Amino acid sequence: MTKFLNNKLFHFLYFFLFLNCPILPVNSSSALAAWELKTNGVLELRTKSNTNLKAYFQKANNKYGDRFWVDFPGELKNPRLIKGNGPIKEIRLGKPSIGKTRLVIEFREETYLSPLTWRMVGLDQNRWRIKLFEPKYTFNRIGEGFVQKRIGNLKTNQNSSFIKKRSYDYLQLPNVQKNKYSVVIDPGHGGLDPGAIGIRGIRETDVVLEVSKIVKKLLTEKGVKVRLTRKNEVDLDLPPRVSFANNTDADIFVSIHANASRGKRRDINGLETYYFKGWRGRLLAKKIQKQILRVSPGSPDRGVKQGRFYVIKNTRMPAVLVEIGFLTGRLDARRLEKTAHRKRIAYAITKGILEYLSKAG
Ligand SMILES: [Zn+2]
Repeated sequence: MTKFLNNKLFHFLYFFLFLNCPILPVNSSSALAAWELKTNGVLELRTKSNTNLKAYFQKANNKYGDRFWVDFPGELKNPRLIKGNGPIKEIRLGKPSIGKTRLVIEFREETYLSPLTWRMVGLDQNRWRIKLFEPKYTFNRIGEGFVQKRIGNLKTNQNSSFIKKRSYDYLQLPNVQKNKYSVVIDPGHGGLDPGAIGIRGIRETDVVLEVSKIVKKLLTEKGVKVRLTRKNEVDLDLPPRVSFANNTDADIFVSIHANASRGKRRDINGLETYYFKGWRGRLLAKKIQKQILRVSPGSPDRGVKQGRFYVIKNTRMPAVLVEIGFLTGRLDARRLEKTAHRKRIAYAITKGILEYLSKAG
């Protein structure tokens, strides 16, 4: 019992930031390439591309002050300790276990921190930023290596970030009244029309069909009636998709697509959601866009936009078309080729739909 209480008092916060990517082999070198803690309290990291990061925070105990640490795959060559200043007691780089690297930032006792508001933001596929303390503290920068400056002016996805605590909150889908709502999900393309073809031949039709089927499963579990415009690889023109939807009593229509950039530029990534008109369509688009961004750290927010796509223009219920990433983009494609990420996207779309239904359905 005492142990349990102690654990409770421990205030152990666990953040987990994941990107689906191969985990580096144990004998590889550290994925941490450079880091810098700046005078404004922002920690910036540069890693190998598409690294799995895990970040943790632990309240002070008898032995240590408040600590924030990030674990990286790959083994650190030279464990070392760097003396802090201002609010920072010390920074340690170590290998907590074989094949791992850990960057620990230990704070001085009197430092005020608000870890619940911390957000790790992916700047691109190999750079990360998190604000740890307020600039009211005098602090001289500490860092090793060169954390490259941002190139270009893409609006970075600021919402996405840490999925907080052990229970990933995106897995907690809101409840809606059972057997009340009906939704049509439209997996784009199909059959002879594969849609976008991306890096390593990844096909839009396959990605969006799998995502759509998971969305259907999740919504069905919540007591929402779901119809798919196609269940397999069939070539389905746009008008039949619309008439199918219009002949149902569906409350909403959600068309799921993945993007391709002109010239197949690998540096173009991002998510966007379209609606045709009306506040309901716009609200649905906003809810979905917000959620898909949360599971796609580092991928740019291309926004909620008005679009005149056939399927959203001609359906008579609130309708949106969601683009879940660029199959031609290095960052998005790497994720979308994995079922784990398709599941996350499906959870996110489902969450957006349920939030919409509970508010406006
Ligand atoms: Zn498409």
